[in-house]
Amino acid sequence: MKSNKLESKTAIDFLGNEWNYDCMGCAIAKEEMEIPGGIIYNGKYVLLGADPEIPIPGFLIINTKRHINSFSELNKEERNEIGDIILYAEKAIKELEISKEITLVQEERSNHFHIWIFPNYNWMAEKFGKGITYLRDISKFAKENASENDIKEVLNVIDRIREYFKENYIDE
Ligand SMILES: [Zn+2]
Repeated sequence: MKSNKLESKTAIDFLGNEWNYDCMGCAIAKEEMEIPGGIIYNGKYVLLGADPEIPIPGFLIINTKRHINSFSELNKEERNEIGDIILYAEKAIKELEISKEITLVQEERSNHFHIWIFPNYNWMAEKFGKGITYLRDISKFAKENASENDIKEVLNVIDRIREYFKENYIDE
């Protein structure tokens, strides 16, 4: 275990790296925590990357740079950027044929604002059922059962989405 006592929480990402932090969202925003596959899009107010702990191809998070936890605290610039990033992330997932359908989740229970962009795959519906009720079970299953090839596929999809953003994202 690391010795820095100021950092109170620990996470192990899906590549097996251990991270210590006070707030994961702040650690990601300050790039103190390096998320698997790297940042996909680094905006002015938010950034887009893969969920660090759950290896599902195209499972993305939008993370604000400010430590806030609610849509009601976002300013107009932040809202605009979040809207644009959701648009391009969903377009990327669909146009790159990663998944036909996604689920968006934002929980104020979390102390740092983030949005989950969760791709829906057939195996999820077949194994667990449809709808947000099952997201936690699906995440747990992916975390516990991802093979080396699954992880490679997740990293490959991250690269493809990053390329998509480079080629298509228009910040205006
Ligand atoms: Zn934070």
